[in-house]
Amino acid sequence: MEQFDHVVVGGGAMGAATAWQLARRGHSVALLEQFDVAHNRGSSHGTSRIFRFAYRNPFYTQLAIDSLSDWRELEAETNEILLEQIGNVDHGVERSINEIAQALERFNRPYELLTSEQAQERWPGMKFAPNVIFSPDGGRCAADNTVKALYRRIQELGGEIFTNTAVEDIDISGDMATITTSGETFRTPSVVVAAGAWVNKLVGRHVTLPPLTIDLGQPTHFQPLEQFADANLWPSFIHHAVDDDHNSVVSGGAYGMYTPGEGIKIGKEQTGHFVDPDHRDFSIIPEWMNATKDYAREWFPGLDIESATAVTCLFTNTPNTDFVIDRVGPLTVSSPCSGHGFKFVPHIGKLTADLACGSTQSVEHWRFRKN
Ligand SMILES: Cc1cc2nc3c(=O)[nH]c(=O)nc-3n(C[C@H](O)[C@H](O)[C@H](O)COP(=O)(O)OP(=O)(O)OC[C@H]3O[C@@H](n4cnc5c(N)ncnc54)[C@H](O)[C@@H]3O)c2cc1C
Repeated sequence: MEQFDHVVVGGGAMGAATAWQLARRGHSVALLEQFDVAHNRGSSHGTSRIFRFAYRNPFYTQLAIDSLSDWRELEAETNEILLEQIGNVDHGVERSINEIAQALERFNRPYELLTSEQAQERWPGMKFAPNVIFSPDGGRCAADNTVKALYRRIQELGGEIFTNTAVEDIDISGDMATITTSGETFRTPSVVVAAGAWVNKLVGRHVTLPPLTIDLGQPTHFQPLEQFADANLWPSFIHHAVDDDHNSVVSGGAYGMYTPGEGIKIGKEQTGHFVDPDHRDFSIIPEWMNATKDYAREWFPGLDIESATAVTCLFTNTPNTDFVIDRVGPLTVSSPCSGHGFKFVPHIGKLTADLACGSTQSVEHWRFRKN
């Protein structure tokens, strides 16, 4: 039987960041991942993700501000560039843009309000709805490269990583947890479960999570036309198309960014294709591909529409897109963060490690549900 101070189950971005934060505190840590590093069956794969302070909900603006220094620490430790502040643009529904401006104002972050004509003059490969806000310190973070860098750093710090190791059971008895895989058993005073779309399968009998939906996403890359090939013409972007109270990232529109080597990524909001992560078809949904092409034709004059290529991934969402990060006894859970967690990865790792080391959760709306 293997013994560690902490066993982290799930080696996507959140689990790897937690294991890194624990290892750099000098704790012995094992990271167990059912597939390989940076595999494409969960939520953390691909080249890039949006980084932004531009949230309608100021809580997440503050969280992104708190995350920035943790990104820089991770970059310094791994000697890699993982976060590029190339700027991000939000446009669309007036109320959404006003709320973003208020959140940025509140934390004294720079921003610029533009008309759609001014925005199109600056970024001619895109079209814009009437209300536009530019946040110069948003941008993009690396996805696969962040996960790979975390794995490397965990091992340099003495942590042990077990890939292709599926956890079959987690048993909690008093203040100890026993974790069983097909080949080994681990006993620990602290198990952290960051199992993405699989989280409920692993911890559902120990804690009550809010209802989670596992929804397919199909981000699509387009090549820029020759005259729009300059990377400086492409900020990260979010189009808020629907006026609602939902804290959703996209609200009926789309998000995306320039991804070096791959083109412009467009993720159009397309919901309602719920899946079981263990029984999933990886094929591309042709209707969604056509809808994304139609969207790009209307809003992106700078793209070669026929160059479109897509991948699928999993969004695991709580009803209001908040996170669940909490602890009971030896069990700490870090949820997959409702489709907008990547920008906080090193900081979520720190907060989760704090809990695993004995802190209590101070963010009320991230707690487990009471039975
Ligand atoms: C298409 C898409 C676009 C996104 N865009 C953005 C964006 O622009 N900006 C942003 O901030 N966020 C974005 N996000 C959200 C962000 O990517 C996620 O919040 C984050 O990647 C979740 O990471 P995770 O580690 O919780 O989940 P995962 O990456 O799914 O990792 C969970 C891991 O647990 C492992 N596991 C599960 N069960 C077991 C078991 N029994 N034994 C061992 N291992 C197990 C899985 O194999 C998996 O590797 C996006 C997400 C998607 C899907």
